[in-house]
Order: sequence, then C-alpha cells, then structure tokens
Amino acid sequence: MKAAIMYGANDIRVEEIDKPACPEGGFILKVLAIGLCGSDIRNLTTDSRKGAYPHIYGHEIVGVIDEVSPTTTEYKLGQRIYIYPADHCMKCEECRSGHSENCENLGDYTSRQGGFADYVPVTKEQVDRDSIFVVPDGVGLERASLGEPLSSVYACQDNVDIGFGDTVVIIGAGPIGCFHAKLAKLRGAKTVIMIEINDKRLEMTKQFGVDYTINSTKVDQIAEVMKITNGKGADKVISANPSTAAQAQSIFMARKGGIIVFFGGVAKGAMTELDTNYIHYNNLWIYGHFGANSMQVQKAFELAISDEFEADKFITHTLPLSEINKGIQLTKTGEAIKVVLLPNEE
Ligand SMILES: [Zn+2]
Ligand SMILES: [Zn+2]
Repeated sequence: MKAAIMYGANDIRVEEIDKPACPEGGFILKVLAIGLCGSDIRNLTTDSRKGAYPHIYGHEIVGVIDEVSPTTTEYKLGQRIYIYPADHCMKCEECRSGHSENCENLGDYTSRQGGFADYVPVTKEQVDRDSIFVVPDGVGLERASLGEPLSSVYACQDNVDIGFGDTVVIIGAGPIGCFHAKLAKLRGAKTVIMIEINDKRLEMTKQFGVDYTINSTKVDQIAEVMKITNGKGADKVISANPSTAAQAQSIFMARKGGIIVFFGGVAKGAMTELDTNYIHYNNLWIYGHFGANSMQVQKAFELAISDEFEADKFITHTLPLSEINKGIQLTKTGEAIKVVLLPNEE
C-alpha cells in the first residue's frame, strides 16, 4: 500500500509499504478520506517524535471496512466508518462522571499507525470503546471526516453555552475559527466578530456568518471590539490561535462577567502574561479547552454530516495522498480552509 511516511521534520515521503495485518478482534479500514489537521501539520513539520521515525500520522479518518478479524462481531465488511481518534475507556472516574475528555486511559492515537495511508489497522480496544461511527448511506465521506476537528469546537461551545443573543469574538480564522463562527451562529449568537492577521482568511470567514472582521495588524483590535459592542465587550471570547499575545489581549475584549476560552495551544513552555487584576475586578471567567466528551464527539459527528453545517464550504481542497506536502503548504499559507486527502485515489 501507499503511505505518507514521516522521516523527520518536514521530511514526508509517499512510499510503498506492506499492508498492515488485521488486528485480532479489530478490522482493517481502507482509508477513503482523511482531514489534514493543524496538529498534523505541527507534528509533521517539527521533530515531534524526538527522532523516533519512520512514522505515519493522520487522525481524521474515514473509510470502508476492508478486512475483519474472525472474532469481530460488531462490524462487517463494506461498512463505511468514521473513527474518532482519542477514544475513551468509559470506565475511569472521569469518564463515569461525564468528562471523558479527561479520560485517564485516553487512546493515544499518535503512537498508533495513522491514516495517511491506503489502509489503517483498527484495534480491538478501539472497537470495544466509544470511537467508531457508521457513516449513513448518502453522506459524503469527506464531510464525515470533519467530525473530528468539529468535536472540540462543539464541546467548547456546549461547555460555555454559547447561545441566543450572544456576542462572540473569535481570534484566529483558521479552519477551527471558521467552525467556531458557523457553530456560534447555528446556536443563535447574535453577533460574531472575527479577528485575524490574514486578509484572505478574514474574507473567507464571511460565508460562515461572521458579522464583523478585524485585521489586528491594521487596527487596534480591542478598541474595535469595544466600538462594535457599544463599549460593553463581548459575552464570550475564544482565542483559537497559537499566540500568547492574543491570549493576553483577549481578556480586554470581554464584558464584565464575560467568558474567555484559551482554545488554541501555544508553543510548549511559552508563558502568557495576564493582567489578573483586570480579571479580578471584572469578574472574568477564563477557561482552557481541549478535547470532547463521548457524547459531544457523537453530536459533533451528527452535526458534521447534517446539511445545516454546510461542510462543503469548509473543504476547499481535496487532494490525493501523494500531494500531502502541497496540502500542508495550502493550509499554512491560508489559501485552504480545510484540506482533505484521498488515499486510494491516485
Ligand atoms: Zn484533528
Ligand atoms: Zn476513561
């Protein structure tokens, strides 16, 4: 089979390797669509495995079952499947309390073979957990692959209860920021303000219901938000970018008693200086967000494949797996919103 194999930072080669063996109690999925995620790009372009190569990444996986272990009873050949990569054990205290996003035995998908390949093995442990969803007939596989990146966005807005009448600021118009805008509107937000440094990206966000766009390299973003909100500030501010400066400034865009979410990760070890006195006197709530609980994963998948989500608008590029390096460039430059790779389609 063909696979996009990482040999080191920025060294990704599409090569012919052996098809993996079918795991006992699991199955082999023929990968037909796989999203290229911001975290994949970070992993592929840095020494993410500290020299432990070769490795195959890729976690936004959709495909069709190609081989089934004789002891697998739940799934059968030919079924179309979406796999959520960070499966939960559903047995630990976190899982049982409804917070499986904090599962103590979270599936470690970066250590398994990923989906940037024609075939990917799916283990018995994955089969026994909560992470496998059948894609209904008639639903495009590309849009099903959006279930994974949408899950943490869905969980975040569910947790901070973005809803009717809210004014929401989103900092960062990457694919995740675009998902946030669309979802906030679907949940009833009255005003969505998008802040970004790339004009091309800002322009693209308008199709997702963004009411105001702010280029933070050209104007004072805090002053702009205050102007739009009549000096009050936004109900909710989501920092969906890797900048500590954006995090530091985000608190000044929220109204008294408002909520700020640090959604995007920053560079490992980077420190953000926060005006905690301002947080204190303005009764601000600051949240970190990562992952999604088991039901949020399911709801996000159902939303991704529903017509109201308009998945096709987010997927700006579909490319064969052999063009993965091009996909990385398209995403990095902001030309693409979401790139979906199509293995098995050369
Ligand atoms: Zn992802
Ligand atoms: Zn657990």
